[in-house]
Amino acid sequence: MKRWFLLLTIILLGAGAKITHSEREWLEILGKERFLVMRKKGTEHAHLGKYTHTQGDGIYACAACSLPLFEGTEKYDAGNGFPSFKKPMSSKNIYYLEDWSFSFKRYEVLCRGCDSHLGHVFHDGPPPKHFRYCINSIALVYTQRDAKFLGRQK
Ligand SMILES: [Zn+2]
Repeated sequence: MKRWFLLLTIILLGAGAKITHSEREWLEILGKERFLVMRKKGTEHAHLGKYTHTQGDGIYACAACSLPLFEGTEKYDAGNGFPSFKKPMSSKNIYYLEDWSFSFKRYEVLCRGCDSHLGHVFHDGPPPKHFRYCINSIALVYTQRDAKFLGRQK
């Protein structure tokens, strides 16, 4: 991702603005593979995603606009080949749309910062809430927490 775009994104999101681009601009910014998943509501191949088996307490942010979406501490292995989370970092950073593309109702999960498709949420996850946020790895960027910074917070 280009540095100028990341900087612009941080400034706009800080001001509460939504990131918008034309289809052509999104394709240029995201690249074809990421564009097909995030802007065309595609699904990456199961078990091949970068974050399927990652562990750690870092932050998973939107790959298109850098909005923080999920915490590593909420990630678990659902055994289906996709990164799965029990809950979002903040309900303000995502929203849902009904998805009937497979002839039954599912709930699509989208980034509130840029309207990009992230994955789906199901109600067969672990207790207590039983949610399973099934998210495409390619829609995320993981950042490890800074241990030194966290140490100063105590
Ligand atoms: Zn986003």
